[in-house]
Amino acid sequence: MPELSPIPFVKAYLAGDELAYVSRSFTSAAVTGDGPFTARATELITKLTGGLASLLTTSCTHALEMTALLLDLAPGDEVIMPSFTFVSTANAYVLRGAVPVFVDIRPDTLNLDETQLEAAVTDRTKAIVVVHYAGVAAAMDGVLAVAAKYGLAVIEDNAHGLGGTYRGRPLGSFGVMATQSFHGTKNVHCGEGGALVLNDADLVARAEVIREKGTNRSQFFRGQVDKYRWVDLGSSYLPADPLAAFLTAQLEQFDRIQAPRHAIWQRYDEELAVWAASRGVGVPTVPAECVHPAHLYYLLMPSHEDQQGLIAHLRELNISAPFHYLPLHSSPAGERYGRVGPDGCEVTERVSDRLVRLPLYSQLTSDEQARVIDGVISYNLVAA
Ligand SMILES: *Cc1c(COP(=O)(O)O)cnc(C)c1O
Repeated sequence: MPELSPIPFVKAYLAGDELAYVSRSFTSAAVTGDGPFTARATELITKLTGGLASLLTTSCTHALEMTALLLDLAPGDEVIMPSFTFVSTANAYVLRGAVPVFVDIRPDTLNLDETQLEAAVTDRTKAIVVVHYAGVAAAMDGVLAVAAKYGLAVIEDNAHGLGGTYRGRPLGSFGVMATQSFHGTKNVHCGEGGALVLNDADLVARAEVIREKGTNRSQFFRGQVDKYRWVDLGSSYLPADPLAAFLTAQLEQFDRIQAPRHAIWQRYDEELAVWAASRGVGVPTVPAECVHPAHLYYLLMPSHEDQQGLIAHLRELNISAPFHYLPLHSSPAGERYGRVGPDGCEVTERVSDRLVRLPLYSQLTSDEQARVIDGVISYNLVAA
């Protein structure tokens, strides 16, 4: 059947100027970190996230590791987070000896259940990490209230949420720090990359040092000190300027990257609504106070067999539609290094067993999307 060309789940996007900018960067004198393209990309990230300042990093994983260093976590300190997230959310804190405490997610937005946070707080709790799943904001009012009551830092893992808002304010501007990902699977990318967004002026100078191998080299380059030396813990978290050049070309075209993604997301939601409602299939919930950046479109199947069934059915049609996060709390490292909060993680387990993500990228053609929609609708549920 030659008409069934493969439809991948994601395709990294080229906005147009990437290769020209990379070439310009490589032929300039500034190929290491913190060159002119890094400055430009950083400015665009700060603007999009509404942050106070930001620093380009080699990944979101590394930005998360920087948050753990900046929080001065000590062994045995606890960090509350969802179990339904990527491993890096937890790993970053475990590397400092801290204990991830896994709290369940809400069945509607699949974000941290703010009503279960307070019960998970102990005298070792230092921070709450929220993940804005699919770029739909976590219930920040409730999260910030618990954090304020117990004096906890809030970190936003905003890997999905660039361009999203909550009550009109950009995601990335709520936590004391937020982390972004520019991995090839994200809306805006440079292959591998990330950023740390800072919303506390007191953290900026130390964050620069941590990112520059624990040295004050950034101050030295600005002429603020006459030599640079080892002053703190740190690592090499800054990307080469040609990568920032690639990223700049994408960030400059942010609206053009987003427009087709929103149209595709909207069409899935409209054309699958009747089918989903009549079969007990869940679709994304977007609360009125949230604007999301069309990062993911997913279906919540009624059973694990139907998750596996739909994935296999679409695979036969040459369409790649994967499941998503395996719960961290029941993974081998999660069991070793973390613990489950007092209310358990039942919703996390149920969602992980049932969720299927549909292809979503700017280059997906109208005919290809029609094939995905027809493919979903032609699936016969096990329990129907
Ligand atoms: C992609 C992702 C990360 C990791 O991003 P990298 O840039 O690949 O390190 C972390 N958290 C979440 C929620 C993600 O989706």
